[in-house]
Amino acid sequence: MLRILCCNEKCTAPGRLFQWDDHKNLQAGGKLAKKGDDGAVSFVETCPFCGSRNKFYVTKVQKIDVTRNMI
Ligand SMILES: [Zn+2]
Repeated sequence: MLRILCCNEKCTAPGRLFQWDDHKNLQAGGKLAKKGDDGAVSFVETCPFCGSRNKFYVTKVQKIDVTRNMI
């Protein structure tokens, strides 16, 4: 799990942090990155506490199986 800092200053999450399942979305070794980092890909995740949309960057995103959606 990665911990994402919520962008909402009034977020009710403890420490404004919520968890994001990196194993579902990232390859081994993937981690939070900054915009412009090598291989950084942006994600948008809704905070489960306050519902704000948080944009963040991670590396080593799993390749999405496009053909699966074409059936
Ligand atoms: Zn929040």
